[in-house]
Amino acid sequence: MFAKAIHSKNQQVFLPLLKEKEVELWVKREDQIHTEVSGNKFRKLKYNILKAKEESQHQLLTFGGAFSNHIAATAVAGYLSGFKTIGVIRGEELEKDLETVLHYNKTLKTAVAHGMDLFFVSREDYRNKQNEAFLKRLRAKFGNFYLVPEGGTNSLAIKGCEEILISDDNKFDYICVAVGTGGTISGLIKAALPNQKILGFSALKGDFLKAEVDHLLGQNYPNWTLKSDYDFGGYAKYSAELIRFMNDFKRQTNIVLDPIYTGKMVYGIIEMIARNSFKKGSKILVVHTGGLQGIDGINRKLKKKNLELIQQ
Ligand SMILES: *Cc1c(COP(=O)(O)O)cnc(C)c1O
Repeated sequence: MFAKAIHSKNQQVFLPLLKEKEVELWVKREDQIHTEVSGNKFRKLKYNILKAKEESQHQLLTFGGAFSNHIAATAVAGYLSGFKTIGVIRGEELEKDLETVLHYNKTLKTAVAHGMDLFFVSREDYRNKQNEAFLKRLRAKFGNFYLVPEGGTNSLAIKGCEEILISDDNKFDYICVAVGTGGTISGLIKAALPNQKILGFSALKGDFLKAEVDHLLGQNYPNWTLKSDYDFGGYAKYSAELIRFMNDFKRQTNIVLDPIYTGKMVYGIIEMIARNSFKKGSKILVVHTGGLQGIDGINRKLKKKNLELIQQ
């Protein structure tokens, strides 16, 4: 699956607001590069999987929550590339009723269907996941493995994300992306032209991601800014207003967003356009990083609360 270069297409979005403000908005459909390995997770896994092959490893081990896009992507990409995969999952309570969990949780169901071994750990163990002692315990249990960090972010992931942009994208003034661990934006920051501005929309609460990205890049690049006003209260938090916005956007553009990452970002971009944050004539590219596999799980929660569901 990683043998040849893959480019996603850019889709122009037409909305009355864009016409009024005279800005162009385009969506890079990274969500469409693979049917099961979602957008940026494909990019982040590519060079890690090639490295694991080079090292003649047979197993990939990684970490994530029960609805993690990264867990689903690692299971499928590992399976298709001939690896056994192990997912260390946060929340030991899930194991007690695994049959029910696998019935409603599409992420874990996909993982198991692609042969991933699930290992449920307490929140405390999960916090210690990068400790040598914990990794040693995992090696004793599972044998040797290639370690893919949580969210897939490392220098090889950044290298993969540099491939998101191609020469066709040189015409854009702004490149927007949702930020979780900062791996994807780091690749874009490295790949962009000096005159292009990268805007990262934080999916997590707080400004700490700015330092995290500087750390990942090993230097301060001047071509990017982190927007932390659209976190909607923090990671995986969302409001009825956000869901309504996403459903309106879907009706108008036929593009499905997710409420954890891309929905918050596009909400922020539209609000910034309305507030004249972009000058007339600006060309804005939005990277759709995928993540749609988690929507079923979120809709299940919305339904329980009698809230509007996300239209897919
Ligand atoms: C994981 C993920 C992100 C965050 O990417 P990072 O490289 O961790 O910043 C953004 N969007 C989607 C849909 C994701 O699944």
